[in-house]
Amino acid sequence: MGDLKSTDMEIANAIQAEYDRQSSHIELIASENWVSSAVMEAMGSVLTNKYAEGYSGKRYYGGCECVDVVETLAIERAKKLFGCEYVNVQPHSGAQANMAVQFAILQPNDTVMGMNLDHGGHLTHGSPVNFSGSYFNIVPYGVNDEGFIDYDEVLKIAKECKPKMIIAGASAYARIIDFKKFREIADEVGAVLFVDMAHIAGLVAAGLHPSPIPYADVVTTTTHKTLRGPRGGMILSSEEVAKKYNFNKAVFPGIQGGPLMHVIAGKAVCFKEALDPAFKEYQQQVINNAQALAKGLMSRGVDIVSGGTDNHLMLVDLRKDEMTGKELEKMLDEAHITANKNTVPNDPKSPFVTSGVRLGTPAATTRGLKEPQMDRIAQAIAMIVKERQEAIPKARKIVEELTKEFTLTK
Ligand code: PLP
Repeated sequence: MGDLKSTDMEIANAIQAEYDRQSSHIELIASENWVSSAVMEAMGSVLTNKYAEGYSGKRYYGGCECVDVVETLAIERAKKLFGCEYVNVQPHSGAQANMAVQFAILQPNDTVMGMNLDHGGHLTHGSPVNFSGSYFNIVPYGVNDEGFIDYDEVLKIAKECKPKMIIAGASAYARIIDFKKFREIADEVGAVLFVDMAHIAGLVAAGLHPSPIPYADVVTTTTHKTLRGPRGGMILSSEEVAKKYNFNKAVFPGIQGGPLMHVIAGKAVCFKEALDPAFKEYQQQVINNAQALAKGLMSRGVDIVSGGTDNHLMLVDLRKDEMTGKELEKMLDEAHITANKNTVPNDPKSPFVTSGVRLGTPAATTRGLKEPQMDRIAQAIAMIVKERQEAIPKARKIVEELTKEFTLTK
């Protein structure tokens, strides 16, 4: 069997083109990152060949002694990183981790509170187009006019609907989430508190965002966003809760078959990297960069939902500029800045058009960009918001200078 180029030139070319695209663009999609070559190597290893249904020491296949070592290391490192007793590293994605938790705890038609998708929540927190919205009675909560979670309102809704589960966590929320308050609300109405920390997991691991572990009954995360690992999901809880709801059984055989052992190896490497003190410095820079980008945009007359950010992302509010998120996403792409359109709270436009764009700094920070470069990116984005098409060549020149100075390592 030959290598990729000699076996399949079309795919080899597409991969090279994607590498070139990532190199020549500034990546501001808040959920993306650039993994280390060690993580990449683990993912591209012979572990992809192995079936290992079951869990370490209790598999349904022979020859699992090496993958048992990999999975046990991943679990032990994740426990250390997040300070918890139980971890399941098998979910193939964040959505599947969330599905497993809901499958384990809920019955069809149970009432669940989740953050409104339009206010920053995730599809799996109760969107009607997702399994969560199809199988459960979802009562959404959201943010106030200033863009902050209104905890009094969350309590009021919880008292009215008496949910079995409250889901905290978001895909587009730029402020600290008060997990202690969520715990108090859940206790007041007797609900299970489920925190999805997918976006902020890297900040939590570094101690730069309060951890949900002491407060939530169960926590899920993706491993590929701020955490900077391979694409995948994970479930964390106490031993007692894990036993009560049997999360292992919910993942396999509940909703998945064989685990992706090459990805689990990548997760283990990512957790080792995250346990290194350098990871904390990286995460601090992610936040510093996000705040510099928000400041640079606001000082140039671009609105940011809630007036800034405490974490790795922000939401640009384009309503006063009479531009849609869809238009800005396209123009940014022409300037070689990659971002995604996003609804803003109380958005008059549809999710396909939107009045906002979400920006995040994890990938750009991995690339080595710091506050002065974030200000230049703010300059490029603000020019496009204010001058539109006319500003694209100037903005692209800024991007070219930055991408040449800060190269990506394969
Ligand atoms: N949870 C949150 C908060 C997310 O933002 C996302 C993805 O963006 C997910 C879950 C789903 O992760 P995945 O795309 O791996 O299924």
